[in-house]
Amino acid sequence: MMLISSSWRSGRRRSGAGFTLIELLVVIGIIGILASMLLPTLGRAKEKGKAIQCVSNLKQLGIGFNLYAQDNRDRYPLGSFVGGQDPAPAFTNILPSARQRPLYGYVGPSAVYRCASDRGQALIPQTDLEFKPTRYETAGISYDYNDSLPTVVANGGFLKGVDGVLAGKPTSWVPDTTRYIVMYEPPARLYANAAGDAQWQQWHYGVGSGEISDPRNARSDFQSAVLFADSHAAMHNFSPSLQGDYLHPYEATRQWMWYKAIEAPARP
Ligand SMILES: [Zn+2]
Repeated sequence: MMLISSSWRSGRRRSGAGFTLIELLVVIGIIGILASMLLPTLGRAKEKGKAIQCVSNLKQLGIGFNLYAQDNRDRYPLGSFVGGQDPAPAFTNILPSARQRPLYGYVGPSAVYRCASDRGQALIPQTDLEFKPTRYETAGISYDYNDSLPTVVANGGFLKGVDGVLAGKPTSWVPDTTRYIVMYEPPARLYANAAGDAQWQQWHYGVGSGEISDPRNARSDFQSAVLFADSHAAMHNFSPSLQGDYLHPYEATRQWMWYKAIEAPARP
């Protein structure tokens, strides 16, 4: 203890009132360690803020769906691109303009349609185009509408018979409004182009490129904000479905339901 304090004093003398080089390096080292401990926490907090924003956005779109239904015989709209801004020039021939989208008169083009963690999609069904760098900048909307049956991998499918799709249906058609998915983010499911190439994405909390060629090898979770038919919205982790039953990722869970199954007739 004496030795340390004497060398401390001698160090102070050598450099006058300032710090010695060693002291400075120790301080810089400590700051570095503290920063490395703090930065991931800050990054997670920032990412959580983005996720909360998406849940809020989808709640507002839920209000838009309700207003649309009131004006349209209590029905869900048709078309995959329900709202948002005009598509990028490369997409104007295949995607509707902002004004042509069914929610246009209820939730106008605005940041409500944008996910701050939107990392786009490398594959778009039936085309050789991609939604890059983001889906919002190209398609005009980050979120997807569960209007039709989601894509499945080769040899994959649905374990039950499918009783139609949501687009154009009366709101009373929905089997369980608390679980039925109306809108979601692309990481919740898979996409494939006309050639059958499949691609999964990760946006919120994702690490790496965000483009996943096989969900079973993904290093992070498939997180997505979801709007349900009863107008509530929440973040959900779709990894158990996408990774667990790779061939049948759209079966109902306690939290969500992608499609309406044909129920077996009751026994007499
Ligand atoms: Zn989002």
